[in-house]
Amino acid sequence: MSLIVQKYGGTSVGKPERIQAVAERVKRTVAQGHSVVVVVSAMSGETDRLLGLARAIQNPPSARELDVVLSTGEQVTIGLMAMALEACGVPAVSYTGAQVKILTDTAYNKARIVDIDAAPVREDLALGKVVVIAGFQGVDPNGSITTLGRGGSDTTAVAMAAALKADECQIYTDVDGVYTTDPRIVPEARRLDRITYEEMLEMASLGAKVLQIRSVEFASKYQVSLRVLSSFEDGPGTLITTEENIMEAALISGVTLNRDEAKLTITGVPDRPGIASAILGAIAAANIEVDMIVQNTGADGSTDFTFTVHRNDYDKALAILQQSAATLQARNVTGDRKIVKVSLVGVGMRSHAGIASRAFGALAAEGINIQMISTSEIKISVVVDEKYAELGVRALHAEFGLAGPA
Ligand code: ADP
Ligand code: ASP
Ligand code: MG
Repeated sequence: MSLIVQKYGGTSVGKPERIQAVAERVKRTVAQGHSVVVVVSAMSGETDRLLGLARAIQNPPSARELDVVLSTGEQVTIGLMAMALEACGVPAVSYTGAQVKILTDTAYNKARIVDIDAAPVREDLALGKVVVIAGFQGVDPNGSITTLGRGGSDTTAVAMAAALKADECQIYTDVDGVYTTDPRIVPEARRLDRITYEEMLEMASLGAKVLQIRSVEFASKYQVSLRVLSSFEDGPGTLITTEENIMEAALISGVTLNRDEAKLTITGVPDRPGIASAILGAIAAANIEVDMIVQNTGADGSTDFTFTVHRNDYDKALAILQQSAATLQARNVTGDRKIVKVSLVGVGMRSHAGIASRAFGALAAEGINIQMISTSEIKISVVVDEKYAELGVRALHAEFGLAGPA
């Protein structure tokens, strides 16, 4: 008998019939002799609806009160799910994050899980109950409700699995696994049987929203065996695991697209020590995260500096940069929101040269101009004009032969 944590996302619990279908699936797992903890998201669209309500009253909403509002979405689903389980003859009990308790820090809207009291959950499981837990939420040391950031139910599930030392954490969603790229962009994308934690972490960080980044970090840290599956059909899904568990590493595992960034450039900055620190220090002081950075010295001895930030931070970053430009006597400040980041991920890159030039060649063949490049051991990212987003993903996907059956 094993202990399994199953997480069901918004679409999987989006309607009463879907909740009943999930209850039937849980019932089958219980019938196989397993103990089951179910983590649920809010019904699809609900978190956005709640966010809209909050913004209609106060914009931006108070961070603490926003979490009070947003957490209600999941609270509805746990109650309904426990009812659906009881209705099909499976004893169940629901808990909010605070009831469990999932202790977090006080960073409202993006809290981090600090500790989970697994003992009461174990007691319920020992009594033969299915425990249904609200995803995406916790409670801070002062007793205030917190939420874990969008997509946070994945993290609740993995953290519960780690705390309970579960045998597997299964993430049920509306796709039957992790694909070589978002199947909504490239329908011929291929499901991966296995992918390493490291690659999944890169893919999640670079835009593949199938798993929240923190859930993968958690899974990797606590070696939780994590599987992405469809709640609509049966299948093996995708196992996220260590590199040793993967027989043959693929050269490239996937292509991702990130539409959330914007680009800023400051030109004609005097080229002397401390400039990067002055420019980026001011940005960091405003709590804005910088992603890609490119610096280049021109023939006249001055420096141009380009970097990307989250689109939501663009206006703030631009204003700060304009101030820095005045102080540093820079020539000009420009910005562009209409960019995207397309990335190629694969542990196979470590041992193969020439991947980057092949990728750049494939983009060039489609007439796509590359504005920025950044690479690491297992990824290559390029910034291109927003209008080339899909084309860029398709070009790279085709170049590395990622389409086809699993
Ligand atoms: P849930 O509501 O179940 O948490 P999400 O919408 O958060 O579901 O995540 C599933 C979605 O992630 C899919 O519908 C798919 O469009 C998208 N996605 C993006 N990249 C990938 C990928 N590489 N593999 C699979 N799905 C992906
Ligand atoms: N309901 C939350 C969201 O929409 C958390 C989740 O679904 O994982 O982001
Ligand atoms: Mg999700």
